[in-house]
Amino acid sequence: MPTPKKSRRVTKELLMLRALNPRMALTDTDRKKYYALEKGYQGEVMFDALTEGLKNNCIVLNGLLFKLKEKHFQIDTIIIFQKTIYLIDVKNFEGDYIYKSDPDRFCKNDTEIDDPILQLFRSESKLRQLLDEYRFNLLVESYVVHINPTFTLYKAPQNNHVILPTQINRFIRKLENIPSNLNGGHERLADLLISLDQGDYPNAPKPTYCYEQLRKGTCCSKCNSFSVSVGERKMVCNLCGFEERLESVVLRSVGELRLLFPEFKITTNLVFEWCGDVFSKKMIRRVLKANYTLVGHGQWSFFE
Ligand SMILES: [Zn+2]
Repeated sequence: MPTPKKSRRVTKELLMLRALNPRMALTDTDRKKYYALEKGYQGEVMFDALTEGLKNNCIVLNGLLFKLKEKHFQIDTIIIFQKTIYLIDVKNFEGDYIYKSDPDRFCKNDTEIDDPILQLFRSESKLRQLLDEYRFNLLVESYVVHINPTFTLYKAPQNNHVILPTQINRFIRKLENIPSNLNGGHERLADLLISLDQGDYPNAPKPTYCYEQLRKGTCCSKCNSFSVSVGERKMVCNLCGFEERLESVVLRSVGELRLLFPEFKITTNLVFEWCGDVFSKKMIRRVLKANYTLVGHGQWSFFE
């Protein structure tokens, strides 16, 4: 049963949008982006739960961004078997689409999406080049998996590389029945691919925001509600009842500040204000001291 050798990370862009969303009205573009990224991510996580159940000998790598000839290309999931590498792109489209050709695309009301198979084949060809470069010669097979059970594609062309929601179980069983014995070479390949992962797109668009405009306060980490009650040790959400230790709330808030304002110096006063003046400065300082290093003295000191 493979735990993924590389697990999926939430991209920095999505983390930022998640942190901003409860604190401001996102611009139209950012809101659409947020929705699309969140949906895509949730779909990938759904697929990860399926590959985690594979019982044969294989290596699963989730969420990779490669660079080839100065261009980036992203792969949702790679599964390494003895003779074949599976390259999988997960789509979380919802509802009814109609397939149209020339150019190949999916249409829903007035929206059109490029047929993901085109992107898939481009990624496949790039992955082959990458493998060639490092002299690995395994077969590559690639698939688009439509994970959302409500997705329907009318007039879908016959294509063995597209897995529709009703075919997913069969697809997973097919993967499970691939005879596979891995050796050190496969491990080296997996390590190589992980080492080539670029993490986040270097030029990922940054959402538009500034410190002054953002709502200050602490929201529930489960439901994002700002309606919370702060006790001596815990914060309790008035909406969903979720409880979180104060130390964890403070550290989460510092994480948001560092993500959204990497240029800011972390001070007790800054965290106090960001959290909406509800925690004692003494407690914030204690948490910061225990988890970060204090630099400098007196009013100019900050935490790193
Ligand atoms: Zn809540």
